[in-house]
Amino acid sequence: MAIISNDDHIGPEQENAFPLDEQQSFAPSENNMEIVVLVDAKGIITYVSPSISSLLVCASEAIVGCHARDLLHPDDFEPALWEGSSIEQAVPESQEGEYRLRHKDGSWHWFEGKSTNLLAVPGVGAIVCTFRTISQQKLAPRLHWSEIYTSKHFVQFYENDAFLIDSVSSFLGTGLETGDACVVIASQEHLLMLEEQLRANGVDLLHAGAQDKYIACEVNTALALFMVDGLPGPERFSKAIGGMIARAVQRGRHVRVFGEMVAQLWVEGKQDAAVRLEELWNNLYHNPYTFSLFCAYPMHCFAGEIYQEQFSRICQQHSHVIPDESYTSLAQIDERLRAISLLQQKASSLAAEIVERKEAESQLKISEDRYRRLFETSKDGLLIVDADTHLITDVNSSVTELLGYTREQLLGDDLGHSGMFQSQEISQAAWLEALEQPSSRYDALPLQTRDGQIRYVEFVSNRYRANGHEVIQCSLRDVSERKELDKRKDEFISMASHELKTPVTSLKGFLNLVQRRSIKQGDEKVLHYLARMDIQINKLTALINDLLDLSRMQTGKLIYREEAFLMDELVREIVANIQETTQTHRLVLEGQTLATVFGDRERIGQVLINLLNNAIKYSPQADTVLMRMANGRQKILVSVQDFGIGIAKDHHLRIFERFYQVTEPVEKTYPGLGIGLYISSEIVRRHGGLMWVESRKGEGATFHFTLPLTDEGKRLASL
Ligand code: ADP
Repeated sequence: MAIISNDDHIGPEQENAFPLDEQQSFAPSENNMEIVVLVDAKGIITYVSPSISSLLVCASEAIVGCHARDLLHPDDFEPALWEGSSIEQAVPESQEGEYRLRHKDGSWHWFEGKSTNLLAVPGVGAIVCTFRTISQQKLAPRLHWSEIYTSKHFVQFYENDAFLIDSVSSFLGTGLETGDACVVIASQEHLLMLEEQLRANGVDLLHAGAQDKYIACEVNTALALFMVDGLPGPERFSKAIGGMIARAVQRGRHVRVFGEMVAQLWVEGKQDAAVRLEELWNNLYHNPYTFSLFCAYPMHCFAGEIYQEQFSRICQQHSHVIPDESYTSLAQIDERLRAISLLQQKASSLAAEIVERKEAESQLKISEDRYRRLFETSKDGLLIVDADTHLITDVNSSVTELLGYTREQLLGDDLGHSGMFQSQEISQAAWLEALEQPSSRYDALPLQTRDGQIRYVEFVSNRYRANGHEVIQCSLRDVSERKELDKRKDEFISMASHELKTPVTSLKGFLNLVQRRSIKQGDEKVLHYLARMDIQINKLTALINDLLDLSRMQTGKLIYREEAFLMDELVREIVANIQETTQTHRLVLEGQTLATVFGDRERIGQVLINLLNNAIKYSPQADTVLMRMANGRQKILVSVQDFGIGIAKDHHLRIFERFYQVTEPVEKTYPGLGIGLYISSEIVRRHGGLMWVESRKGEGATFHFTLPLTDEGKRLASL
């Protein structure tokens, strides 16, 4: 036997002075896992075994003479036990506990300590303490299943089945070897794997089963024995499962249980039932059996912040919690400390990430709510369609009000085949365009309502990607009333211009009659007034004709004559006529086309008149209007340039719309109806040409138009 050796206190000759059991208890071992310390009645350390140098990295000489308080952690140091005159009475015969001792680097290391008061023993006169290191055990779970049988209820988390089967087979195998009985309630798959492993380890399961030393049951079969309305029934549980344990416990055998019922409930989403079952297991333990229970949960079941509380409830139900293999498989303390640090770092970054995500989620929620409100309250009808399936995925109430369908009728319906787009060709074309183009727009698209009426909508479509899907957003603005008003206005213009035409024509006739008479009578004064009247009547006639043309264009009733005519001749004729009506401007003609144009000579003349009159009207400060003619291979180009007030870019397209007039202060002073350019551009368009303007505000304007050449014209141009 190795003996405490301290020359001052205990000599070899005093060995027999130790009572036998004390000697056995405190005989310092030779291994490096234990430190033996002797303390005198004042708490001063009188001896330390050399193992302190490897366990706490300090020389025993440095410790001897120090107070016990210097070695022990303040929380573990109880002065009453170690100090003062009453020490002999205060320290009990033998005391055990866990203590932290100071390492040389200042850290605290855990030890299992046992102190025995031998102050009164002659020749010893010391409190004898042995400290066995447990730091490693404190940090690491016990992995030796032969030692764990004293645990009541522990839980193993795991990531893969192989690790679980390894742990459980070791737990059960050790038990069966040492005479324990085992009860296994596991999934069919785990049962098969487990039994295969046990057999591979040399366990005779048949024999064990015959003696009720090994009882196995499939998890769902076991659950069916006691589950009532989704929760475990306490009485049924203790009868069914307690019965199994009672069979195993015969002849006072210790029982090891592996159960997956809680895990099964958890996986099925019955978390409350699982926690309840854990409680029942704990109750069963107390009454009337003693057994070790091994529960196992797959770690992925707890992946998610929402499981945080339930996870800690599960842990609370167990006397031991064993982390999954990513931690358990690390053998070295240093590796484990690193793993813990990494986990802590991960946990704190996850916590930070969660905060950030919550913030982002709440921002997203705000913007989603805002979008939803805008979507729902928009006066425009909004439809969202999946571009691949053409099915309507969302629709607001304005659409349902506009078209008379319910939301339910529209959601999931194919928009292209729904009645609303099917009734008119133009609507079908608009739908195809919406499918094919990134965006499209129609001013007044006829859509059919559920009860067969036609509503006109301003239709805008936009195609974009959302959540990895191509979607088409369609917005529908009801313009039926505007359309109706436009129709009435057109009807009124048509009617009014027809009504005006007749009296003005008669006025013109009578005027000509009076003019002829006055010429005969030689009444110069009357002739002068009649000429002025004629000019005004001509203006009035031109206005009425414009209005009539407009109405005819609207209804598609404007008739174009088709004849071949010489363009240069027409231009010269018109320029000469207009020149006669103006004293303020000189019309300058440049170039020629030598072209024959096929079309309505009078209507093309009307275009030229309109452009020249505008050029004169909108350049009151200037004195020249230029007219240029050019001939290309396929078409001719005619341009009318003035040096007047010009047109800002914003209006360049719109001046060709019906009734559009630039309404800035300067333009307001010029008379007109705003239909001349509309009619002119329509005439050019009907002849297969184009009209456009080049201008800047205050810098004059140049109106251009093209006309295609006849085949003969093209042939001549190519010579
Ligand atoms: P209006 O009868 O008003 O002249 P038009 O259709 O001929 O109608 O022209 C439309 C508008 O375009 C005019 O109101 C005017 O504002 C602008 N405009 C047309 N020609 C010219 C021009 N040569 N210079 C400046 N503005 C012009």
